[in-house]
Amino acid sequence: MKMSKLFVQTLRENPSDAEVVSHKLLVRAGYIRKLTSGVYNYLPLMWRVLKKIENITREEMDRAGAQELLMPFVQPQELWEESGRWGVYGAELMRLKDRHDRGMCLGPTHEEVITSIARDGLKSYKQLPVNLYQIQSKFRDEIRPRFGLLRGREFIMKDAYSFATNEEDLMKEYQNMAQAYKRIFERCGLETKMVQSDSGAIGGKISHEFMVITDTDAGENDVFYCESCDYAANSNHAVSNLPDAVVDGGFSKKEIVDTPNTHSIDELSEFLKIPASVILKSILYIADSKPVLALIRADRQVEETKLMNAVCANEIRIATAGEIEEIMNQHGFNAVAGFIGPDGLGDITIVADETVKDMKNFVVGINQTDKHLVGANLLDLPEIKEFCDIRLCEAGDFCPQCGKPLKVTRGIEVGNIFQLGTKYSEPMNAVYTDIDGKNKPFIMGCYGIGISRTAAAAVEAHHDEHGIMWPVAIAPYHVVIVPVNINDDVQMQVAQSMYETLLKEGIEVVLDDRDERAGVKFKDADLIGFPYRVTVGKSISEGLVEFKIRNLEETIKIEPSQAVELLIGKIKEILK
Ligand code: ATP
Ligand code: MG
Repeated sequence: MKMSKLFVQTLRENPSDAEVVSHKLLVRAGYIRKLTSGVYNYLPLMWRVLKKIENITREEMDRAGAQELLMPFVQPQELWEESGRWGVYGAELMRLKDRHDRGMCLGPTHEEVITSIARDGLKSYKQLPVNLYQIQSKFRDEIRPRFGLLRGREFIMKDAYSFATNEEDLMKEYQNMAQAYKRIFERCGLETKMVQSDSGAIGGKISHEFMVITDTDAGENDVFYCESCDYAANSNHAVSNLPDAVVDGGFSKKEIVDTPNTHSIDELSEFLKIPASVILKSILYIADSKPVLALIRADRQVEETKLMNAVCANEIRIATAGEIEEIMNQHGFNAVAGFIGPDGLGDITIVADETVKDMKNFVVGINQTDKHLVGANLLDLPEIKEFCDIRLCEAGDFCPQCGKPLKVTRGIEVGNIFQLGTKYSEPMNAVYTDIDGKNKPFIMGCYGIGISRTAAAAVEAHHDEHGIMWPVAIAPYHVVIVPVNINDDVQMQVAQSMYETLLKEGIEVVLDDRDERAGVKFKDADLIGFPYRVTVGKSISEGLVEFKIRNLEETIKIEPSQAVELLIGKIKEILK
């Protein structure tokens, strides 16, 4: 490809709506252009990158024994009613009507469609197990589309679905996919961590996510991991053993005390001169429109996904001041936030974290503004019936596997694998005939990779202040050849001849034949992120060109034929 013909427009300024580096660089380097919120045009350079990630994914899925198909992007409402998700999927599902007033949606994921395909085409246990996948655009009306390709509304996903007759075969395929995913991300030049993750209240099955570790805001997930063993989990699923803390308040007697204006835990602990670990914190949540009171030792935080799962809800949020007032009124109290407690709220769902179990002589709200009960014990709170883990881990907590301190980092989820069981096959009556002649629902798994998100995650992981540093396997082109002065015949001849030799060898190369200053060409080359650059300049008079690897500082001077050999060797070695 000649640079003069390449469809690319680089920009000097970052787009004003870009918060993270991958969004900034992909726009500036001419890979993507926004069409509307969360919807992007993939320009030629981007499309080359995406096709490479797709092809690596395709090759590894095929190698793992999965079969590719393609399902429609538009799906009928009826199918979603069969699975029961039409009513619960929420606003992320883009719903529309056709001219006959029939309900449709844009596919955010394809469990329903694939289950109907299996119901239709897989009749006997003899046909199982099977794994079917597609690579396709998805649409989700995300509440906060942001970060460019990392969280778009339209994005490209590889989604695979497996069907088996028993849990053991599901487990085998799950591990097979985990291995395939490791190979896919490795081949893309991405380091990932496989972490345990939440799989929702319904089913309670096993799932894992593949995270690209990053220390930037682009990582929307917190990952707790252990350096001494292989434990790693998303914060929504991580468990830990607690370090020591003072859990006995040491109050000599139980009494109600005035605690004026102590709306926060910090204010209360300062006022009473006690550590937060002897305060029982009570927080009102609204889970699927019902109130839930969460109790936790006040030096720790509630993990909302764990709480949501504990009460089998689909949505959860903290109650507003108005809702707190209303709930208090309904129970004959008039306390404001900061003074709430379980006493007298026995009719609403109360979930106490395990940290509460060991507390003694503690401080607790009693639903009276500006007052707290001190020296309380669990026997004083019969509303607490059981304990469960709704606690957010913290760095320094101990690993549940080996007891060493846990660390925390940020991660971008690029893929996940999920044991679905019969979550879709049962309600949709997708059955096969087993060896005993009985009809049984398929035991399913599903496996996703965000193709477009993976491309953006690669930029997050591989860039510097000058631009992108693509891993060779997913770079749009491998090499750029830069003649410093296109009006110099010798320079142009050498550049052209190297270009042709590399093309013949199957190397993807761009010849920057623009009549621009060398500085401009180098800037663009760095921004676009070609892994290798060969500059043909003045030293061609000594028979030498400059060879540079994008992520290394130094350039070396070598003969053109050596440069060609080096490039072919390096690139073929990486791509083999
Ligand atoms: P997230 O928690 O980030 O919203 P998810 O759990 O909703 O992800 P899945 O439904 O499992 O994601 O989709 C499979 C993969 O698709 C994810 O691992 C991710 O890589 C990608 N993906 C999901 N949502 C988006 C999005 N809005 N934009 C780009 N990629 C996405
Ligand atoms: Mg999501």
